[in-house]
Amino acid sequence: MHVRCPRCKSIAILEDNFSRVCCKNCLLDVTYGEYVRILAYTDERYKDVLNDYK
Ligand SMILES: [Zn+2]
Repeated sequence: MHVRCPRCKSIAILEDNFSRVCCKNCLLDVTYGEYVRILAYTDERYKDVLNDYK
């Protein structure tokens, strides 16, 4: 599943088992829990971001 990278706003890949989020653009590589925390910290509208890519 594609999600928006919280660091560079490019397209990141959420693995099917929700274990990791990886962005090839800025080399972000975090767990899903860390990803959600980064989003909540950097963008208070993070729920909208997730909804965009369902
Ligand atoms: Zn990125």
